[in-house]
Amino acid sequence: MNKLAQLDHQFVWHPFTQMRDWLKRDPAVIVAGKGAVLHDIRGREYLDANSSIWTNLHGHNHPKINAAIQRQLKKVAHSSALGLANEPASLLAEKLVKLANAKAVGRVSSRAGSSAASPHLLNKIFFSDDGSTALEVALKLAYEFTRRTRSAGSLPASHRRIEPRFLSLEGAYHGDTVGAVSLGHIDLFHKSYSGLLFKTDKVMSPYCYRCPFNRAKPERADAREYRKCNWECAGLVEKKFATQGRKGNPYAAFVFEPLIQGAAGMIPQPRGWLRRVTEIARRHDALLIADEVMTGFGRTGVAALVKARNDVVMGPRLHKRGDGTVLFACHHESVQPDFLCLAKGLTGGYLPMAATLTTQKVFDAFLGEYGEFKTFFHGHSYTANQLGAAAALASLEILQGKPSICARQNLEKNLHDELQTLWSLPNVGDIRRVGLIAGVELVRDCRTREPFDLRERAGIRVCEAMARRGVLTRPIGNVIVLMPPYCTTPVQARKMVRAVFDSIREVFGRRSL
Ligand SMILES: *Cc1c(COP(=O)(O)O)cnc(C)c1O
Repeated sequence: MNKLAQLDHQFVWHPFTQMRDWLKRDPAVIVAGKGAVLHDIRGREYLDANSSIWTNLHGHNHPKINAAIQRQLKKVAHSSALGLANEPASLLAEKLVKLANAKAVGRVSSRAGSSAASPHLLNKIFFSDDGSTALEVALKLAYEFTRRTRSAGSLPASHRRIEPRFLSLEGAYHGDTVGAVSLGHIDLFHKSYSGLLFKTDKVMSPYCYRCPFNRAKPERADAREYRKCNWECAGLVEKKFATQGRKGNPYAAFVFEPLIQGAAGMIPQPRGWLRRVTEIARRHDALLIADEVMTGFGRTGVAALVKARNDVVMGPRLHKRGDGTVLFACHHESVQPDFLCLAKGLTGGYLPMAATLTTQKVFDAFLGEYGEFKTFFHGHSYTANQLGAAAALASLEILQGKPSICARQNLEKNLHDELQTLWSLPNVGDIRRVGLIAGVELVRDCRTREPFDLRERAGIRVCEAMARRGVLTRPIGNVIVLMPPYCTTPVQARKMVRAVFDSIREVFGRRSL
């Protein structure tokens, strides 16, 4: 075993990893990367088919991001945001505000600070380090905002000391810090910490493929396209809000991953679901917290989603307008949240940095004389780090350029076409794709949707077989994830899907329909 691999085995504890299994294997030691390719110390090449756990956008070793970091490095790497402003963070904040309001509030004046024009205009940014901290900030702000604004007079005295409650989706994952974990509902991650967590409620998420309300027999298509239901899932959201409202303590906030839930197993929402449920939440006076840690920065496609069977809209309209700035999943459904949480792709996958965007209204609730102690007492040492902000600015510039928009459109089409080949495999139950995010759900039998027991490690075995073919990704249970960097070429996209195909046949036998 290589010296570095030995040191890893001796000292490093890996995230979300059964270390006993880890220690049985000789790990790949990554030493370089270029575009969609990673190189290990033994000279092997791999395609980075999940963009280094959903972070990388434009590929590794991108000359523009490299240069931006180097330019910043010659000035200063980091100075504290406690008491000081800095150049790239100020510029980044301005740019993010512009993009975060780009589509959904088109009708509304976007003059900074004019909260009267739209109560949901996002114009304040709190920087932090990771997706978890971005959510933690949103959570704490929403909690305190609700306590302050709801207890201020309108409620009877007996309700003054309200305990703001949050509603999130089944299977939700919002990070691993204690607040973020409280918002999540994946038992495997959360059960052992239940004593530490505060109580949040969950509501059904639209998992069409396994939805008890979906009366459709399985077909060889994305379950959203052939589902037969009456939007019972949205009805349950309405019911949940109504019930909580009757208790005299309406939900403070509704927390969701827009368009597709990632760690839940790549669960995509049927068109119109997000719009419906956020309207319900708004009617019940809840704040909207959008977790776009995975979906942000163009991941969900340049323009529209899969509309109906065989109707993939690639968005040439946007492209012609030279626009391409639908960078956030919310905007695909014209939803404007009160909190927008960003991380993973913010720096193009280069450096840990996160942002929580919010409204003037929330900001104002924390203003006061010093001695009133209305300050938001929260912060991290590396808040608004210069190197991260410089990388993020460069990444946004690339994203908005025509070459990147074209590349994303082409990759989306290639990915869509290549994925169709997998339908011939009886162990593929559902293939779901939103933009440049795809999940392939493995089943024992596609005619019955019978799942594999998690202990069979079906997803892990397929991903191990893919790695032997030079394609890296990680499964979520029985779901194989493909989330390629935007620079992925047609040949590379084909190789990624081909690796899924061949690996499934290797693991489960060479059966086909
Ligand atoms: C990854 C992820 C997080 C957590 O982000 P970290 O940077 O890992 O803390 C939160 N929400 C979503 C939707 C994510 O995909």
